[in-house]
Amino acid sequence: MTEKPTPTERFETRAARAGINRDPGYNSVVAPICVSATFIREDATKPGGFDYARTNNPTRQVFADAVTALEGGAGTVATTSGMAAIDLLFNDLPIGARIVAAHDCYGGTHRLLDARAQGGRFSVDYVDCTDLAALAAALESPAHLLLLETPSNPRIRITDLEAAAKLGKAAGAIVAVDNTVLSPALQRPLELGADVVVSSATKLINGHSDMIGGVLTAKDPDHAERYAWWANAAGTGAAAFDCFLALRGLRTLPLRAKAQSDTALKIAQFLDAHPHVLHVDYPGLASHPGHEIAKRQQSAFGPLLAFEVKGGLDGGAKILRQLNLFTLAQSLGGAESLINVPALMTHKAMTQEARDKAGVKDGLLRISAGLEAAEDLIADLDQALQALD
Ligand SMILES: *Cc1c(COP(=O)(O)O)cnc(C)c1O
Repeated sequence: MTEKPTPTERFETRAARAGINRDPGYNSVVAPICVSATFIREDATKPGGFDYARTNNPTRQVFADAVTALEGGAGTVATTSGMAAIDLLFNDLPIGARIVAAHDCYGGTHRLLDARAQGGRFSVDYVDCTDLAALAAALESPAHLLLLETPSNPRIRITDLEAAAKLGKAAGAIVAVDNTVLSPALQRPLELGADVVVSSATKLINGHSDMIGGVLTAKDPDHAERYAWWANAAGTGAAAFDCFLALRGLRTLPLRAKAQSDTALKIAQFLDAHPHVLHVDYPGLASHPGHEIAKRQQSAFGPLLAFEVKGGLDGGAKILRQLNLFTLAQSLGGAESLINVPALMTHKAMTQEARDKAGVKDGLLRISAGLEAAEDLIADLDQALQALD
């Protein structure tokens, strides 16, 4: 009765079918939401399948297995948030470990790394991972964890995953990639040499902006087991209802990821030609420094782009007041288009110095393209940019 997707099937097939027909209780086609906190033991001496829902629950297992099938790993832990998934990476490190992380990693990741490093848990060195010479220099000393993120946020920089993973491995590090911005529909880091992939399921994976969750998939079964151990020990496993929502989102992930990427490219091309726009960061533009690498390691350019307008925070504020179809909000990857001022919102937790180093300028605006018609979104941006005339 259990239908196990095989790796030979295409991604869309796996996304549509992973976890279908997996209910032994009622033969339901769709995985039921199982909210029981605890599970009956047939025999006190023999552990059964499920035991206590902090450790695991059936809905979480179906969602996690589906993500494993999509990322191509050995096992997945589904967590309460993307940050909880990233924290699993840190939990498994020895005291005093050395982490090398992308200098322009997600703001929340930066905050957690800094706080734990200041508390003495580990040390962290931030590197521009798009610069392989700088990364190689940082990895001349041994490291326990290399934490990559590509495309990075908010400047949409592209790291060569295959080359970076090789450098990380040579330094003895576990190579982890934050794959949130693209999801496995557009990029599969485990196929490019990474050991672990983490994503905020809140974003493209769920895709409907109605839950918070994270996933961590490991290539090696022992790693997967250790991370599952930590999620149980720390109590950060995802709730059944959130797993149900994210699993439902997965069904349309390939379609959404492609449509949102197509729209983002059209928006980027429009902005690139606009006189009030200083520059556009989108790997789909041939002028982007990561264009060739993105073409090689991604199957589309993703929903996220950034652009800098004249006039810094004031210039940005003028445009935001005029927009009708872009909601001013954090997050990305949902069906609705969002716009964000990284310096005031997603990257506010970084110091001014760290923001300068990462190129997060005051006039930078970040767009997550949704599922609206590209023509409508472009017309809206066009009229809003007139505020800078
Ligand atoms: C949102 C995000 C996270 C954190 O995920 P949450 O689900 O909000 O905890 C991590 N990395 C990236 C790139 C993100 O965009």
